[in-house]
Amino acid sequence: MLVVVVLLVTVAMRVAIVTAVVYLLLPRGPLCPHCGIEMAPLRNRFLDRLLPALQRRWCLDCGWDGVVRRVRGKPNHSIDVMSRAARS
Ligand SMILES: [Zn+2]
Repeated sequence: MLVVVVLLVTVAMRVAIVTAVVYLLLPRGPLCPHCGIEMAPLRNRFLDRLLPALQRRWCLDCGWDGVVRRVRGKPNHSIDVMSRAARS
């Protein structure tokens, strides 16, 4: 029985370490990792509810899209980004 507990703890620790490393490797904030302009947020009901710390974003300039870490406490400029995109 002790062997099973040790194996389960080992697997849980691996999952926790991989999750932490993947989270830290994700780009942080609303700025594009390629060109540095603010990206437009893409709403994903599944991702927003399951992982509220992550957000999917799309760069209107270079077309990069992906999951980024959500930064809290900053004002949301997505309306400005969308209006700029609509003008261009
Ligand atoms: Zn970009």
